[in-house]
This record gives sequence, C-alpha cells and structure tokens, in this order.
Amino acid sequence: MLTVTSRHKISAAHRLYDYDGKCEHLHGHNYQIEVEICSDKTDALGMVIDFSKIKSYLFAELDKLWDHRTLLYEQDPLCKSLQELLQDDSVRAVPFNPTAENMAIYLGSSFFPTKLKAMDNQNKLSINRITVFETENNSATWHNSHELSSCQ
Ligand SMILES: [Zn+2]
Repeated sequence: MLTVTSRHKISAAHRLYDYDGKCEHLHGHNYQIEVEICSDKTDALGMVIDFSKIKSYLFAELDKLWDHRTLLYEQDPLCKSLQELLQDDSVRAVPFNPTAENMAIYLGSSFFPTKLKAMDNQNKLSINRITVFETENNSATWHNSHELSSCQ
C-alpha cells in the first residue's frame, strides 16, 4: 500500500452547542486539514495522485464549503438566527456539533470520498485518514476502518 499526505489551511468560526465552557462562545480557528490518500499502486507517472489534483479537487471544494465561514450545528438556535440576519451563505449549518472529531468524520466518510470518486476514473484511490488540527497542538483523526478498502 502507498499513501500520500497533503495539508491545507482554512479559517472558520464555530461554537459548540450545549457545551459548558469557553467553546460555547462563538470563536474562530485557523484549522489545518490533513488528508491521507492511499492506493495499492501508482499510475504511469509513478504517482498515487498528483498533489495538484488534491489541491484542485479536494481542498478547493473544501474552501468553498467551509473557508471563512461560520460552522454551526443545525440544531443550534444561533444558526437559523444568524442565517436570517446575514442573508448570505457565510453561515454553514452542519448536521453535527462542530468539534474537530465530527469535522474529521464528515470529511473522511462523506465529503472527500465523494469528491475523490468524481475524479478517480479508475477507482483505485481511497481516503485513508483525515486529521483536523484545531490548533497546532490539538487535533482529531478519523481513520478509514473499512475492511475491504482497496488498499487495506
Ligand atoms: Zn473552537
């Protein structure tokens, strides 16, 4: 098995819903999102995937989704109120409390696999790991536990 890893920065605001502590207040992070892609073989050029494709197909889409946005749990009353007040697409309602763990699960099990599949016409690539760094010291990692993944 071969893996390639690429890291990307986004800035986003969030708050944790139903949480007792300072993270219940709206605040922001300069997140770093690390994606590990695996394959059991390289292509004719000797690559698992061109790093420029990770940037243009995965991270550019992530930028459109979350960069310089406010991520709020769809059940958080602030979410609907802010969306109505701002009348733009800057507030993103997410179907989970926006912890680094839940962001990693969503990116690893849903968002990135869909984007990867759209560009991987040989279907030989899969997302192996996603790490969401909330700060340089704190991160959460999702691992692909699918036993039948093409590169397990
Ligand atoms: Zn936070």
